[in-house]
Amino acid sequence: MKSPFFNEDHEMIRDLAREFAEGELKDAAVEMDKTEEFPQEILDAMGEMGLFGLEIPEEYGGAGMDVRSYVCVMEEIAKHCASAAVFVSGFNSLGSAPILMDGTEEQKQKYLPGIASGKEFMAFGLTEPNAGSDAGSMTTSAVVDPSDPDYYIINGRKCFITGAPIATNCLVYAKTSPEKGSKGITCFIVGMDQEGVSVGKHEEKMGQRANPTSDVILEDVRVHKDQILGTVDEGFMNALKTLSLGRVGVSSLSIGMAQGAMDLAVEHMKERKQFGKPLAKFQALQFKMAEAETKLNAARLLTYNAAYLLDMQHEGEKVDPTKDAAMAKFFAADTAIEVISTCLQMFGGYGYSREYPIERIYRDVRVNSIYEGSSEIQKIVIAGKLFK
Ligand SMILES: Cc1cc2nc3c(=O)[nH]c(=O)nc-3n(C[C@H](O)[C@H](O)[C@H](O)COP(=O)(O)OP(=O)(O)OC[C@H]3O[C@@H](n4cnc5c(N)ncnc54)[C@H](O)[C@@H]3O)c2cc1C
Repeated sequence: MKSPFFNEDHEMIRDLAREFAEGELKDAAVEMDKTEEFPQEILDAMGEMGLFGLEIPEEYGGAGMDVRSYVCVMEEIAKHCASAAVFVSGFNSLGSAPILMDGTEEQKQKYLPGIASGKEFMAFGLTEPNAGSDAGSMTTSAVVDPSDPDYYIINGRKCFITGAPIATNCLVYAKTSPEKGSKGITCFIVGMDQEGVSVGKHEEKMGQRANPTSDVILEDVRVHKDQILGTVDEGFMNALKTLSLGRVGVSSLSIGMAQGAMDLAVEHMKERKQFGKPLAKFQALQFKMAEAETKLNAARLLTYNAAYLLDMQHEGEKVDPTKDAAMAKFFAADTAIEVISTCLQMFGGYGYSREYPIERIYRDVRVNSIYEGSSEIQKIVIAGKLFK
């Protein structure tokens, strides 16, 4: 859909991502889902194309583009491979936004070029076994080393961490002042090769299987105060702001996946004949697809609008995209789950067969309303703005 939200640069990066996804991901996604492995050469190619440093300024090795460019890339990649799109969001959003926001010049120079090139994955360690939606109740602790006040000792366990098995570093949010609750959390940049850091078992997931997820375990990990990102006790704000950008990432992931499913269903319905005519000729099915198309486009507009507002905010305009990003996230995720289910129905029994990609897309999309703030949590954010 042509949109007034985008300019020529956006369309160019969209075309580039589309071409790559159609050529390199469409077929490979099938095998990746089976083996739960993401080929290193594809990851390298995406890094070389600049898809992992879209919003990182050029001086740190990135493309210096905006949120809308990121949305364009996410949509096109997600049409063919959700696992690949989650890598795009991991590098561009959860891994780099916290550093772009609060990093010192030295930290930016140290970490951003590796992220932009795709060679160094920065995991985002917020969730814990007993602190998911209520991340502020985390128990991972960071205490000043009694033998040297320049160091902190971190202990705890982060769970469901995207990309943990391949990460070079992890942003670890830990309590430095537990008595202050969520106002006593600090973010540390921890090397995955540091003593005391280990990765838990491979999480066997329903979908997005080629994107690895594991726990990150921290046992007496000694970190220098230079590894603090931002200000002591103010890390939770960093996480919340990062998740605000993350919401647009999951929205664009959702609309891309739903569009991929719609394309497959429309093609199938034109070809598949029952009762002497193509499925596409049955009005009962046409109406279902018309509703799906309408909802998908509503989700798309919410997503584009939230991305536009985030760009305006980055340019210094006084806008608050929080509610718009939350509306886009929950509506796009829930809509994509519904639309993809409708598309699967159009395939009948073949939709339930692993021979057809729609079955994978149906599994892949389910998590979109759960992670990076579930749909329920987005509604809490929206209502909070509504009734403030
Ligand atoms: C594949 C995958 C990748 C992930 N990647 C990362 C990552 O890279 N980094 C990271 O830190 N985390 C990551 N997560 C964790 C994810 O963000 C959490 O799973 C999510 O925040 C929900 O937390 P929870 O699983 O503990 O569910 P819970 O918080 O236990 O929630 C259970 C249910 O209750 C609902 N609920 C909770 N509180 C309320 C309330 N107050 N009102 C109404 N409903 C409520 C929730 O919406 C949900 O439906 C990932 C998760 C998955 C599945």
